[in-house]
Amino acid sequence: MTANLLEFDLDGLAVFCERLGEKRFRATQLFRWIHQRGASSFDDMSDLAKSLREKLKTCAEIKPLSVITQHISDDGTIKWLFDVGAGDAVEAVFIPEDDRGTLCISSQAGCAVGCRFCSTGHQGFSRNLTSGEIVAQLWFAEHFLRKRLGVSQRVISNVVMMGMGEPLQNYSALIPALHVMLSDHAYGLSRRRVTVSTSGVVPMMDRLGIDCPVALAVSLHAPNDALRDNLVPLNRKYPLSELLDACRRYLAFAPRDFITFEYCMLDGVNDTAAHARELLALVRPVGGSELSCKFNLIPFNPFPASGLKRSSVAQVQAFSKILSDAGIVTTVRKTRGDDIDAACGQLAGDVKDRTDVAKRISKQRTVMLHPVMVGALTEQTKGTNA
Ligand code: SAH
Ligand code: SF4
Repeated sequence: MTANLLEFDLDGLAVFCERLGEKRFRATQLFRWIHQRGASSFDDMSDLAKSLREKLKTCAEIKPLSVITQHISDDGTIKWLFDVGAGDAVEAVFIPEDDRGTLCISSQAGCAVGCRFCSTGHQGFSRNLTSGEIVAQLWFAEHFLRKRLGVSQRVISNVVMMGMGEPLQNYSALIPALHVMLSDHAYGLSRRRVTVSTSGVVPMMDRLGIDCPVALAVSLHAPNDALRDNLVPLNRKYPLSELLDACRRYLAFAPRDFITFEYCMLDGVNDTAAHARELLALVRPVGGSELSCKFNLIPFNPFPASGLKRSSVAQVQAFSKILSDAGIVTTVRKTRGDDIDAACGQLAGDVKDRTDVAKRISKQRTVMLHPVMVGALTEQTKGTNA
């Protein structure tokens, strides 16, 4: 069987090399060729013995994901739709800024959590991505961007697991992929610049803190259980009190001294002044200790099946002000890649019309885009994720 070397973190690659009778330093060399140099052919790996290269050709490959579509916005935001086989596709988005380059990647095809305001949730769950498929999004984007910009140094400085899927429901694939992102022999990203976003899979938050503590974003979206049960069904299993306790425990391991709470602003649903005050009370319980956090307010990206509407700019500002006035750092995400938003709406039609692609990508879910991606998003306040 041919092994896809993108599946392995450095330890995994070392085990693979040992089985071939090769020493660990060979695995390091190979790992560097793949991730630092973007090599996909063993013939390019000039400092590996020819005999090893020949051996590798018989049992291994570096298997990229195929790109179905690529959209480049005037502001430099780039969105890719990758084919992951059997009619499924996932997205990644690169968001360039003055001081950093952020890549948003997917962890699953579809998602089982089923949040009301999320189109991925409405599509249902198809399957977990493998570690190699998670890493392949970064591998492709980083080396594509280096070629495009004509640079040899790193372009992507931050990775956020905010694409399709719930990363903590694909834990066993997530951890090796995070190792690859963090490894100095691969992408060398700092733990502070790799963010896992979760809807609140409490036991896995604890494990992440121990196994691979990276920056954590928690999708809160509601200040009480009744509302959160309705918006984020996972809340029925892990209610707010348990979720906030898990956040407090995570802080002991986190590379940053705060948790980022994401809050999708839904008109008339969770966006009133009373909700904002309730949120404050939640993170600052009377007689209890304050939970160190920041809020990131996300204007809802509407899609018809949701039956929900985006809060007005004034409402978002008023909400933000209540939190900020209380001394909690609050940012409002602004959309990026506006000119390719429309193109993304078009994308669904395009993909369906082109019969060759349509044959490969047949299910409806493959062409529905993650709402966050539809407005590839970034924070308004610079430096908060630096
Ligand atoms: N499953 C993980 C990560 C992927 S979703 C999670 O839920 O955290 C990334 C972020 O996009 C989450 O905060 C999610 O709540 C938000 N999101 C989903 N659908 C959205 C929409 N239609 N508009 C705005 N934000 C949305
Ligand atoms: Fe899944 Fe996150 Fe979408 Fe909820 S918001 S359905 S957890 S991808």
